Amino acid sequence: MKNAKEIIQWGGKRYHSLNHHLRGKFGQKVFKIPLDAGLSCPNRDGTLATGGCAFCSLRGSGDFAGDRSKNLEEQFAQVKTIMHRKWSQGKYIAYYQAFTNTYAPVERLRYLYNLAIQQPGVVGMAIATRPDCLPEEVMDLLEEINKKTFLWVELGLQTIHEPTSQAMNMHYNFSDFQKALNKLRARNIETCTHMILGLPGESIEDMKQTGRTIAHMDIQGLKIHLLHLMKGTPLEAKYNENPFAFLEPGEYVELVIDLLEILPPQVVIHRLTGDSPRDLLIGPTWSLNKWEVLNQIDHRLMERDTWQGKYV
Ligand code: SF4
Repeated sequence: MKNAKEIIQWGGKRYHSLNHHLRGKFGQKVFKIPLDAGLSCPNRDGTLATGGCAFCSLRGSGDFAGDRSKNLEEQFAQVKTIMHRKWSQGKYIAYYQAFTNTYAPVERLRYLYNLAIQQPGVVGMAIATRPDCLPEEVMDLLEEINKKTFLWVELGLQTIHEPTSQAMNMHYNFSDFQKALNKLRARNIETCTHMILGLPGESIEDMKQTGRTIAHMDIQGLKIHLLHLMKGTPLEAKYNENPFAFLEPGEYVELVIDLLEILPPQVVIHRLTGDSPRDLLIGPTWSLNKWEVLNQIDHRLMERDTWQGKYV
């Protein structure tokens, strides 16, 4: 049995949640304000390809981010108001989520990052990007921002398996991820890695292998996504041509727990399932009930008498 003191240290959860981590760091509720900086992605604008990653939504995987047609201050105010319906009090992490948020001339990025951290109530910043979009001048800028505020960089990995990354039209691979991670860590910048469970063509063992590999790397945070098949994505066309099976809810829950068990306890868990707009989701539809999935994970962690880091 996990020692009771450690469970209490994670606010009663059997994994090290972002919510708990931020409360500990800032002494109050802190939540992310997802923003759309109006940038693009080299995998969409023709630099690498035009289609984007097969699973990426039309809004550049920022479906809950602010409205791209509005300026940053307006987006910030609008998203903040929506978030405060859920939590009346709190401070904010400005979160550049949609598209590739290091893909612009460095002066433009400097302006965007500084503008975000100057918004009232912001205590930190998160920047989502792809591993192949971190040139030296951007790394210098991130280092500068890291000295001004609490920062983490979200790096999409999704899978370590090259055939999958090719099939998903990602145009980067595990080696690109390793290089980007090393560069960020050399500058003492925290990272949060994204992985997707349920990518077509991957076995449960393939997904575990990605998890095991990540668990041995110098990451500070992890987002586990369930693959969501969304309308308007290249993956929808692939699925229509050649339907693939979605993970079943029980299968997903057990897999997430297997991954938690091998992750070091200090790695912060930013997400344990996906989120996508109801009207865009094709499947798996069971994922719409996000709270049920999270409750099942908590329930099975107890039943299995296990926790994050049990087998580290
Ligand atoms: S790198 Fe990110 S923004 Fe670009 S296509 Fe892939 S998922 Fe979408």
